[in-house]
Amino acid sequence: MSHCGLGGRWTRRQRRAKNGTIARVAEGRCRMRALIVGAGIAGLVAARQLGLAGWSVDVLERAPEPRPEGYMMDFFGPGVRAAERIGIYPYLAQAAYRIEAAAYVDHEGRETARLDYARFSQLAGGNVLSLLRPDMENAALRALGDAPAGSVRLHYGHRASRVAQQPRSVALAAKDRHGETRWFDADLLIGADGLHSAVRGAVFGPDSGCLRDLGLRAAAYIVDEPGINAGARNRFVLTDSVGRTAGYYGLHDGRVACLLVYRALPGDPQNARDRLRRHFTGLGAAVDRLLELCPEEPYDDVVAQVVMPRLSRGNTVLLGDAGGAVSLLAGQGGSLAVAGAAELAASLEHLEDPEWIPAALAGFSARWQVTVRTAQATGRRAAASFLPATRAGLLLRRWVVRGSNVPPIDRLIARRIVATLAK
Ligand SMILES: Cc1cc2nc3c(=O)[nH]c(=O)nc-3n(C[C@H](O)[C@H](O)[C@H](O)COP(=O)(O)OP(=O)(O)OC[C@H]3O[C@@H](n4cnc5c(N)ncnc54)[C@H](O)[C@@H]3O)c2cc1C
Repeated sequence: MSHCGLGGRWTRRQRRAKNGTIARVAEGRCRMRALIVGAGIAGLVAARQLGLAGWSVDVLERAPEPRPEGYMMDFFGPGVRAAERIGIYPYLAQAAYRIEAAAYVDHEGRETARLDYARFSQLAGGNVLSLLRPDMENAALRALGDAPAGSVRLHYGHRASRVAQQPRSVALAAKDRHGETRWFDADLLIGADGLHSAVRGAVFGPDSGCLRDLGLRAAAYIVDEPGINAGARNRFVLTDSVGRTAGYYGLHDGRVACLLVYRALPGDPQNARDRLRRHFTGLGAAVDRLLELCPEEPYDDVVAQVVMPRLSRGNTVLLGDAGGAVSLLAGQGGSLAVAGAAELAASLEHLEDPEWIPAALAGFSARWQVTVRTAQATGRRAAASFLPATRAGLLLRRWVVRGSNVPPIDRLIARRIVATLAK
């Protein structure tokens, strides 16, 4: 099944790609073949890097086109270092927003506390990008153009369903948008298919042990609301509320990106929009208006982590959220997706025979898990303190946020945030 594994020989030349990485271009009869499930940030960056290294790459994505959903994500620490190293930083920087502050507001829209973003960014070495999730995915798509023409093929509308691991290769069944099953085979399978990864389920077993629900849900959607946009430019607006928080941000084009974090309750409606309206109505005129405009099926998922003992089995490896989700509230999902993809590709780019893949994946898994575990500890702390459960908790958060703007307390708090997140 594996072309290279059947005795094909590598003849290759090294060339220095325009981004400074060594790209290997196979000139012989066979190139190693990778199958990536998930065209999110992790899958796309891995595809680019493997394409640059001379692999032949197929990416399967169940959505019919790039997904437009998602909120603002901070991008710094390991993601920034990796993005600079592999040459995708300029694509990301182009799409970034300039944030001045995170502002908590009461029901009337008056600020109750404010966190200065510039100081936070300064202490992180000035290298914090704020990116809308779909913009980040688009940046990764544009960066794919650096890989040699034809080396990476994107298959939208393909949902991976079954995996058959062979001793030296992997076969995978995917349903296309017409319901037809197509089989793909490759030397390497990368499961970059997110929190509820089908590859993880198929290769490592059901989720029960590894998906750690942090007790919250988060929903995100984008609406056209120039009025609210004008008041929420350059700052994250967050409701200063008990047990739930609605956040919104004004995008460049007049739209508003919304993030709603809450605890599910027994008897909650099945329909996500109805559920959000139940939890968030009454938090002020702006939030009520954003709920009115909420699409019927916004992104709405559990806030959870994926904790795996190892990330690889044979020729299959998990990447990004699929193997090590840190949770949406850790703010590091995108950063770790880029850094993990760069690290994985670096572990594979010098291989000359598919037989070496399992050992390379095991090495990647052991190294990468150290970074993931550190970020997950931060993610658990962020989730535990994100939603104050009582009025006393709310007042405490207000006090901490206000304190963070009083030198030198701001430096202490910001340094602590940066030190944990930037590892
Ligand atoms: C719609 C959406 C909105 C999000 N919003 C936010 C946000 O606001 N803030 C935040 O911090 N994080 C958000 N996240 C999570 C964030 O994107 C990730 O933490 C981070 O980017 C790591 O990305 P990833 O590539 O590992 O996984 P993901 O971004 O989850 O990408 C996984 C991809 O795999 C695809 N996929 C899943 N199953 C299959 C299958 N069986 N076959 C084929 N393809 C499949 C999915 O459609 C998706 O495109 C969101 C994720 C999604 C999917």
